[in-house]
Amino acid sequence: MIYLDNSATTSIHPEVLDAMLPYLKEEYGNPSSKYYTLAENAKKAVDQARSQVASLLGCDSEEVVFTSGATESNNMIIKGVADFYSDKGNHIVTSKVEHPSVLETCKFLESKGFRLTYLNVDQFGRINLGDLKAILESDDKPILVSLMWGNNEIGSLNDVEEIANLCQQSKVFFHTDATQVLGKVNVDLEQHKGIQFLSCSAHKVHGPKGVGACIIRKHKLGLKTKITPLLHGGGQENEYRSGTLAVHNIVGFGKAAQLAQIHLEENINSLKTLEEITKRGLLNKFEEIISFNNDNQNKIPGFLSIQLKGINNELLIRKVSDQLALSTGSACSSTKPSHVLSAIGKSLDEVRSTLRITLSPNLNIEEFRETISNL
Ligand code: PMP
Repeated sequence: MIYLDNSATTSIHPEVLDAMLPYLKEEYGNPSSKYYTLAENAKKAVDQARSQVASLLGCDSEEVVFTSGATESNNMIIKGVADFYSDKGNHIVTSKVEHPSVLETCKFLESKGFRLTYLNVDQFGRINLGDLKAILESDDKPILVSLMWGNNEIGSLNDVEEIANLCQQSKVFFHTDATQVLGKVNVDLEQHKGIQFLSCSAHKVHGPKGVGACIIRKHKLGLKTKITPLLHGGGQENEYRSGTLAVHNIVGFGKAAQLAQIHLEENINSLKTLEEITKRGLLNKFEEIISFNNDNQNKIPGFLSIQLKGINNELLIRKVSDQLALSTGSACSSTKPSHVLSAIGKSLDEVRSTLRITLSPNLNIEEFRETISNL
């Protein structure tokens, strides 16, 4: 079976699994315990993972807060900023094509009296920088702008560099959900000083499920950026988050981050090659009925969103499910019609004939070519 749903989740890399196993067996210490070896070993392992994640993202280790995944990170940042800075304002800006963990959090805040602006997007799901600039320069300056780096349904990249610059000039916090771009785009927070907060998740980058991080950048003077915690308790994660750390998962995330960093260029190149092969194969097979929802430029490599005119996506996915794992869109909102495809102007018929193909650099090319030609 060829797995083509790597933006829903990825397989655990064998080296990641090997790194994790000792922490599920003999090295079971609690990293917050003190003075004895088992605890110190766990603490060292967490510290190493923290610096591996920091190194992939170009930030300091103290800025990495481990969470249970990007859903929690998004909730933590948006609710945490909203609550802590509510005396400064109650306006938050996001877009119509964000992940449900952002949109539902924003809806919740609306029910608590916050004012949300949901920016419109173009045909590929990117916000218009002019719209954002106008809001940032208005009298209704937001306390937070939350916009995704790469879209999980059509793979487009926002111009994060420019968004970060605009927010920095206006002294407005910018949060970006980078879940889909980890290991596929060069994320260097040192270069993007305007990004104050970033969310990500290990299982999209060949790490384990149930662990992610939010990056909370320090102020210029090196002071901690304050937000209200989502989880109160022992304050294990630099007082930002409480709960005993899932050492095995964190170690797995660290290893996955290290591998993603070492192989970044190579992986980007193989994703691009695989994407070309897939495109050519699909065009050969389905020339008369195929069209592409995604842009060819400024997108996540290895990401295709296609339409097969007249074909019902669910029926097709079921029909080829022994050979291929494909998706209609996001795994996180699979019961509702896609809000992303609707926001970019697709009709219900077009949504129903859309397939998402997301590749992994670990794919066996020969097996893959054969499967496509046999389809
Ligand atoms: N944001 C985006 C853009 C995603 O694609 C996902 C996962 N589908 C999430 C957030 C949520 O990540 P997690 O599964 O780690 O909670």
